[in-house]
Amino acid sequence: MADKRHTKCLIVGSGPAGYTAAVYASRAMLEPVLVQGLEPGGQLTTTTEVENWPGDTEVQGPDLMVRMEAHAKAVGCEIIGDIITDLDVSARPFTATGDSGAIYSADAVILATGARAKWLGLDSEEAFKGFGVSACATCDGFFYRGEEIVVIGGGNTAVEEALFLTNFASKVTLIHRRDELRAEQILQNRLMKHPKVETLWFHELEEVLGEDNPKGVTGVRVRDNRSGETSEIACKGVFIAIGHAPASELVKGKVEMHHGDYVRVEPGSTRTSVPGLFAAGDLTDHIYRQAVTSAGMGCMAALDAEKFLAEQDVVDEDPDPVRHDAAAE
Ligand code: FAD
Ligand code: NAP
Repeated sequence: MADKRHTKCLIVGSGPAGYTAAVYASRAMLEPVLVQGLEPGGQLTTTTEVENWPGDTEVQGPDLMVRMEAHAKAVGCEIIGDIITDLDVSARPFTATGDSGAIYSADAVILATGARAKWLGLDSEEAFKGFGVSACATCDGFFYRGEEIVVIGGGNTAVEEALFLTNFASKVTLIHRRDELRAEQILQNRLMKHPKVETLWFHELEEVLGEDNPKGVTGVRVRDNRSGETSEIACKGVFIAIGHAPASELVKGKVEMHHGDYVRVEPGSTRTSVPGLFAAGDLTDHIYRQAVTSAGMGCMAALDAEKFLAEQDVVDEDPDPVRHDAAAE
């Protein structure tokens, strides 16, 4: 029989938003349960140095997330290694189904499922995923010692990944579709000065080239998007770093969204269009997408959930009309 349990406050996700919500919800005596998902600690576990977390001039991403988890546990949050595969928000208490078979019911839910790496969608990219094509330099960089690597993208992630990969690779070529990077200036300066890095502007990946026996990447074919001319670059690794998309599939079609698949929250709060369901972090945010902003929203979500639960006995299921007007803007 399925393991069934009830909690006042279920937190889905274990990135900075989820763990911060856990700390605040625990201290508000909501006895929260946090389900970690496939990536305990979230996106920061896929990076090395974090240099913009206030209070730490430099901290390793995975270490920071271990500390956040310990903090959440220390104040009483129950942390569960499971993945939510379905979330029913049509009636309260809400029901979440875990991959483990567990059923969680909750008076309030804080969704903090973050974002995941985007892919280009090329057949050859798919064919060589795990065999030379990766979206995580910290996870896979080690396999490319002494090899040539290409990185696709022009944001903070692409530049950080390119710099990190210089620790292993003999040469890193950053390929970007424009001649201007989105990355912070400090990272751009480091990139431009690095002797192992070459940049290729106005180029796009057309095909990952490789062989089957043994399966592996041998190069890439790229296209100059001004002239249409194609050329080939020999390499053993291809790192795709073209951004992240919100992980909102659990509530697709169930709550209001914005800018595609980001969950809409009422401005200045974490309230979604479903009363009792709160959302925080990269899942809701197409602009800032930082650890510190996610943590801030996690705090807000716990405070919003606390207020909601306190009011529940006096405020009936009828949603606040002001809130709905704001969410529909
Ligand atoms: P995430 O960190 O994305 O965590 C989402 C969580 O939800 C994960 O634990 C996942 O397991 C869980 N989850 C997802 N689906 C489910 C499900 N169905 N059931 C249960 N759990 C689920 N920001 C900075 O401020 N400074 C940096 O230096 C920095 N470096 C970065 C480097 C890289 C390589 C990347 C990719 C991002 C970086 N960022 C940085 C951005 C930062 O990591 C994110 O803004 C932040 O992690 C978002 O936090 P979050 O809590 O919203 O979600
Ligand atoms: P991003 O800022 O959205 O940048 C994505 C990059 O990929 C852009 O340069 C974009 O090109 C390019 N791109 C997108 N789609 C493409 C396609 N189909 N083909 C080729 N190129 C494509 O994503 P990100 O770098 O992953 O950063 C995500 C968020 O996390 C940001 O808010 C960032 O600040 C944050 N982050 C912060 C840090 C840090 O603080 N140190 C580190 C990593 C990430 P265009 O420029 O032409 O659009």
